[in-house]
Amino acid sequence: MRLILRIVLFGPPGSGKGTQASLLERKYGTAHIATGDILREAVANGTEVGLKAKSYMDRGELVPDEVVIAIAKDKLASTDSNGFVLDGFPRTIEQAEALDGVLDELGMPLEAVVNLRVDQDELIKRLSGRRVCPACGEPYHIESKISKTPGKCDQCGADLVHRDDDKPEAISNRLKVYEVQTAPVLDYYDRKGLLRNVEAVGSIEEISDRIVGSLGR
Ligand code: AMP
Repeated sequence: MRLILRIVLFGPPGSGKGTQASLLERKYGTAHIATGDILREAVANGTEVGLKAKSYMDRGELVPDEVVIAIAKDKLASTDSNGFVLDGFPRTIEQAEALDGVLDELGMPLEAVVNLRVDQDELIKRLSGRRVCPACGEPYHIESKISKTPGKCDQCGADLVHRDDDKPEAISNRLKVYEVQTAPVLDYYDRKGLLRNVEAVGSIEEISDRIVGSLGR
């Protein structure tokens, strides 16, 4: 089925933005734009952006706005008519304002900002048990989504990794950064009437259905 979406998937680290955005991409062919994935790739390839971003990412801090805004702008300019699902962007008010400007220029207004709600204990459990495929980005969890061959990705066979920023000290820092710098963006979108809150606990399919339902589809 084809479903044109122009949305931001919002929520704290561990709320399932990446999982849900990948599912929407598989189901409807909507471009999944994840600034975190793009930055990790840049770090792995040792590009100029990667070198700038690495130390912030390792500490669980936000990469400077101008770096991420340039990445998002570039990706959005090359999306096709199936729309986009933004995952992990915007994360500051400055990024949200820049996104408004870019979408205005492209004539692609934002349809909604879907906020995935999960309580703090559950977030810590999800993040600390998360493993990820560095090659294709497929996420796993040591309890709730175990790969068929231990330590290997089901999709592409690469060795799974425990991201440095999913280790205890970085997790608590990321959650603090979310509260202080990112959560205020919710008010920004609420004032524009774009905010949709979705309870993000339950099965992946159930949550996906709630996301699409929150858009009135
Ligand atoms: P994520 O995979 O979305 O959790 O992102 C991993 C890390 O990449 C974050 O902890 C930040 O260091 C960086 N990052 C990703 N997206 C952004 C953004 N929109 N603004 C600033 N930093 C970001």
